[in-house]
Amino acid sequence: MFKIHDALKNIQPEGVARHFDAIRRIPRGSGNEASVRRYLKKWAGKNHFVYRTDFIGNSAIDIPASKGVKAGRVLLQMHMDMVCVKRPGVLHDFKKDPIDLERKGDRIHTKGRKTTLGADNGLGVAMALAIAEDRSFKHPSLTILATVAEEKGMIGALELGKAMIPRSVTDYINLDAEEGPEWVCCGSAGVVNLRAKWPLSDYFMRPQKEAQPFSIQLKGLWGGHSGIDIHKGRGNAILFLKDFLKKIQKQFHGFILGDFRGGQAGNAIPPAASAIIFLKKFQQEALEIEAKTFETFLRSELGKKKGGKLRIKIKKIRLKKKDQFVWSSYVVNHLFRVLDKLPDGSIKRKDNEHVIISNNIGMVYSDKDYLKLVCFSRYDPHQQKVHERVLRRMITLLEKEGGVIRRYSDIGWEEPDTSRLITLAKSVGASQGHKVQTFTYHASLEVGVIRERLKSFGHAVDNLSAIAFGPIINEGHSTHENFEISSLQPTYDLLRGILEELAKP
Ligand SMILES: [Zn+2]
Repeated sequence: MFKIHDALKNIQPEGVARHFDAIRRIPRGSGNEASVRRYLKKWAGKNHFVYRTDFIGNSAIDIPASKGVKAGRVLLQMHMDMVCVKRPGVLHDFKKDPIDLERKGDRIHTKGRKTTLGADNGLGVAMALAIAEDRSFKHPSLTILATVAEEKGMIGALELGKAMIPRSVTDYINLDAEEGPEWVCCGSAGVVNLRAKWPLSDYFMRPQKEAQPFSIQLKGLWGGHSGIDIHKGRGNAILFLKDFLKKIQKQFHGFILGDFRGGQAGNAIPPAASAIIFLKKFQQEALEIEAKTFETFLRSELGKKKGGKLRIKIKKIRLKKKDQFVWSSYVVNHLFRVLDKLPDGSIKRKDNEHVIISNNIGMVYSDKDYLKLVCFSRYDPHQQKVHERVLRRMITLLEKEGGVIRRYSDIGWEEPDTSRLITLAKSVGASQGHKVQTFTYHASLEVGVIRERLKSFGHAVDNLSAIAFGPIINEGHSTHENFEISSLQPTYDLLRGILEELAKP
């Protein structure tokens, strides 16, 4: 046993705080889940619960029903991985380092807000384990399913193994929604992850002798979740940097691009981007003046709250001879045109408010051979046809500019308002003193994908009722990520209350 982190002391329910404290110590970026999987397996063993895993690495744990309960089985589902985003310049190794915490009033965030917190979806895991340990109430049999690589495009859910979920499952509660006990999610958007790449090696050239490399860093934007925060006008660092570079390209004779990168995940709004350019030495001062002017312009456009921390930094750098490569103007122009024309942010809204189609230009980066671009485009389930047209336009544009394209899709879902779990959530909530309302997410939960998967295995999904809820998490997918302490207990109580009702004959 370890001593609980000071920031989590005396937080209720104790079980949730304890498991969250254990999980935040375990590095668990998407694709790096072996250690957290071990934690789950060990926990299952200690409690004598049946543990399973599949080839992709998801974990399933069966918890028997309380004595005397004969009702069906409830699937409690969440993901074990987290989004890894850190502030530029922060020394944090997501493969090794634990997440450090800080408490401020009712909120827990990371110390110094340097990295993502992983409350998404660490709190979901913690809630499920705590509820399974809770002997103070009667529940039906449970299966906890913790998926891998959710934040990389729901890979775990898409590849879910056939033997993972027992056929006796009648109800499905996803613990990855983030709006607290008063808002229960009854549907979520589908998402298309669009990736394009351009071969670089053919176009690589060495810079001219007298060219001086400069690094340009644009940082300090808010970032955020590519679905939930997409309409908030927080600015996209990739696009801002592109605008700045285009200006430089126009004004400075001999401009050459050596590198361009921004964003750390397709599903996060990029808060920072950087480039390497080559100019003449004597142009440094003029470049710095341009940067200051552009920085001031962007700040006034964004306003104080969103743009107050924005910086554009120019630095003269030295590159080893072997790193002195530049991109051809072909590639640069492809990239700039694509970034000029691709939609970013909200594309369609319902009643001028609720976003129903959006796109996030989430990442641009290059490796030795390719320049790569990653977009996450979301749509509400009933917008699929319209979205397909939006997507076609994006793909046509990318192809016209020479991009090689891959696309991955995750399906959305929507639950009728009269379903068993929604009705129960409302009545249990009312009995606990709060009004439960439903909403649909412009983010994707794994519910749609897992439903489809179960259907393909021959499960009777037509009778499967599904909802999603969880404690209040703000600013997910960004270094501002935090959760509200006071939302833990009532969310836990709602889950407990629903399971208790489902246990009744
Ligand atoms: Zn999540």
